[in-house]
Amino acid sequence: MAIGILALQGAFAEHAAMLDRLGAEHFEIRQRRDLDRGLDGLILPGGESTVMGKLLRDLDLFQPLRERIRSGLPVFGTCAGLILLAKEVEGGVPCFAAMDIRVKRNAYGRQLGSFSTTAEVAGLGPRPMTFIRAPYIVSAGPGTAVLAQVDGHIVAAQQEKLLVTAFHPELNDDPAIHRHFLDMIGA
Ligand code: GLN
Repeated sequence: MAIGILALQGAFAEHAAMLDRLGAEHFEIRQRRDLDRGLDGLILPGGESTVMGKLLRDLDLFQPLRERIRSGLPVFGTCAGLILLAKEVEGGVPCFAAMDIRVKRNAYGRQLGSFSTTAEVAGLGPRPMTFIRAPYIVSAGPGTAVLAQVDGHIVAAQQEKLLVTAFHPELNDDPAIHRHFLDMIGA
């Protein structure tokens, strides 16, 4: 069992540290040949979704990853990673377009773009949440379970094996959401 972490840009090292803590094997995906190694799950980290979208195409990673995601590869997307998975993006363009959600980029504006709070995550209890120039989910399709809301906005959701958070669980001292992802994979 190994989890690939997209490591083109952004907060990938923090995800690796969280998986280390949970004893889960992982490796970085930086170029196409990194996909030769089988992956049981994929993490799309936070960062800048427009930059990651461009790098994915430039590095010839977009097509092979999209195919795997469409074939049911479990994916955990945080913040920019959430944007990469969304079918509809306000203020941006869809990338993998795999998850039936509409997201708003930089939804909290410049001033309030970064903040911390604690809110209930379905099945996991109250969890700390760090938001950095975060998106939120404007609406989710019928096949998508809403896992958490903050101030009336959806900030965590799951559609089959696709898990997304608008916040950064890898930046808090709390492995609960990563553990949930590993449970989803069956690790
Ligand atoms: N604002 C970024 C974007 O639109 C996301 C920020 C983040 O990942 N922390 O891609």
